[in-house]
Amino acid sequence: MEVLACPKCQNKQVVKSGVIKDRQRYLCKKCNYYFTVNKIGKKIDDYYVTKALQLYLEGLSFREIERILGVSHVTVSNWVKEYNIKKTAHADYHPKYKIFNHLELVEYLKNKDQLSGAGMIITELGDKFMLIKWERFKD
Ligand SMILES: [Zn+2]
Repeated sequence: MEVLACPKCQNKQVVKSGVIKDRQRYLCKKCNYYFTVNKIGKKIDDYYVTKALQLYLEGLSFREIERILGVSHVTVSNWVKEYNIKKTAHADYHPKYKIFNHLELVEYLKNKDQLSGAGMIITELGDKFMLIKWERFKD
C-alpha cells in the first residue's frame, strides 16, 4: 500500500474520514486539512504545470516542452493562457539545454569554464537532470 501524504503540508499522518461521491476522504492530523485521492492526482498535475511554465519562461517552444515533458503543446499553451504567464518583452533568444544523468551532470560541472557567465539553471526531469544555459549573458 502506498503511503499517503497531505497535499497541503506533506505530513504522512493521515486518517480515513468518510467517503464523498465514491472517493475516500482523508484528514490530515497535522493541519486538519481534508482531501480526497483525486486531489493527490491533481498535485502530480501541478508538478507538470510548474515544470512546463518554467521551461516556457526559459525560452523553450511549446513543441520542445511537449517533447521533453510529454505534455501536448496545446495543453502547455492553455496553461500559459490560464496562468497568464508573460515573457519579458525581448525574450526572443533561444536557450541552450542539455539533459544529463547524475554522473554526466557531475562530470560536466567539474569544468568551471562551463559554469562562468552562463547564468544556468538545473531542473529535475524524471530520473534525469536538465541544464539550461542563458548564453545571452556570455558576451
Ligand atoms: Zn496537512
